[in-house]
Amino acid sequence: MKRSFLLALDQGTTSTRAILFGADGQPRRSHGVPLRQFYPANGWVEHDGAEIWQAALTACRRAMLGTPKSRIAAIGVTNQRETTLIWDKATGKPLHHAIVWQDRRTAARCDALKAKGWDSKIVRKTGLLLDPYFSATKLEWLLKNVKGAKAKARRGDILFGTMDTWLVWNLTGGKVHATDVSNASRTMLLNLKTLDWDKELLKLFGIPRAMLPDVRDSAGDFGVTDKKLFGAAIPILGVAGDQQAASVGQACFAPGDVKSTYGTGCFVLVNTGAAITHSKNRLLATSLYRRGNSKIYAIEGSIFIAGAVVQWLRDALSVIPNSRAVEALARRAEPAEGLYFIPAFTGLGAPYWNPTARAAIIGLTRDMGKAELARAALDAVCYQTRDLLEAIAADMRGAGLMKLRRLKVDGGMVANDGFCQRLADLTGLPVERPTVIETTALGAAYLAGLGAGIFKDTKDIAAHWKLDKRFIPVLKKRERDLLYQGWRQAVARVL
Ligand code: ADP
Repeated sequence: MKRSFLLALDQGTTSTRAILFGADGQPRRSHGVPLRQFYPANGWVEHDGAEIWQAALTACRRAMLGTPKSRIAAIGVTNQRETTLIWDKATGKPLHHAIVWQDRRTAARCDALKAKGWDSKIVRKTGLLLDPYFSATKLEWLLKNVKGAKAKARRGDILFGTMDTWLVWNLTGGKVHATDVSNASRTMLLNLKTLDWDKELLKLFGIPRAMLPDVRDSAGDFGVTDKKLFGAAIPILGVAGDQQAASVGQACFAPGDVKSTYGTGCFVLVNTGAAITHSKNRLLATSLYRRGNSKIYAIEGSIFIAGAVVQWLRDALSVIPNSRAVEALARRAEPAEGLYFIPAFTGLGAPYWNPTARAAIIGLTRDMGKAELARAALDAVCYQTRDLLEAIAADMRGAGLMKLRRLKVDGGMVANDGFCQRLADLTGLPVERPTVIETTALGAAYLAGLGAGIFKDTKDIAAHWKLDKRFIPVLKKRERDLLYQGWRQAVARVL
């Protein structure tokens, strides 16, 4: 019998899911388990590592139900990035809850490092901005605050990992302690050029090398599953952070290929090829993936509030019964000239990076109502995408890279045709929605499939990418630019 299935394990911020894919890239069976969130203090967010492992095990078992294990060629793992865990090597028990990427407890530490002038060096070495978002200061915090951790970590008795590493370690019965380049590049401890842990940064944050995972290819060998778990030793052949996996799922393999994921927030990644493109516009440079000798990099920009603005219309204002209803409501809107909704509920991300900005609705007149508000909310996601694309385009020009030609989209929001059309109109780029919008899990499956030989190369994967619908801009450039000017003025007032 042919080994023709791939299992993707997708460990997200709010849930842990497993999806079984066929060799054609079509999802066959899936199972998801919600994840508890802990908020022990203002700005602190934690997850229970043991709960995540149990959820992953359940999700994998359920997704494989009815499929002989001998037919599963490989497992691919993708995950929420940056979230930081330490555990005891001997017992396998976490020593503290995982500190989630959203957690801001190390903000003061980051400010202190900035005051000492570390920010420019960190950008140069890691491609990242000095921010609590990334793992380094979270791990430093754990080593300081968990009693006795530092000494044990030095002896290698305590291990560090992001969620990919934690899951691979458990899946292999504690045999493999490894991460892939895309996850490692989000720790703020990795030298982006060498793709190895950076000695100077390890010293700065007081991180013993002995506790760090081995850094491997994204389409690489991560061992086999412990026979006790699924009754078979299934190879783990792919690992990537969620946004990088989504780029692979969208077949963004050529320089200039760009994908935008619209879930709760929005993440835009553009493939910049084999060279690191350091952003001059406060975006991040990051590793996209590595396979053999091929190191591929990306520029990344993110928007904090995308689908979350739809949730706000639903939960806080009750103007829609469910997220889907926003499409019909927005369609009823009159032109509403001059109306802008800046959803800076938690500040503004790239390229503004203003944590203290707050949301505003500007330009309301007596004739406007909930339909206009709904459309302004969706438009805001489009304008913010244009903000990111402008910054990306500037960075790419600076690096002599090609112009963006189209935007591949995915995530929960892109089920909305009206939104996709508006996105094309307001960015001026053709917007392409693939048939499979579970691109994160699909990307993990693709990486594993490369390792298993189900796909020959990235070209072979790209041939599997199927267009569902293409949205062509119909708005005139002049009109688009005028509307965007209005947006920039509205944002300026919020800032
Ligand atoms: P995440 O992975 O961040 O949990 P998903 O990719 O599942 O997010 O997308 C869910 C988000 O998409 C929610 O914020 C929801 O409000 C939004 N959403 C879902 N359907 C629609 C729709 N038809 N129009 C606009 N937004 C939608």
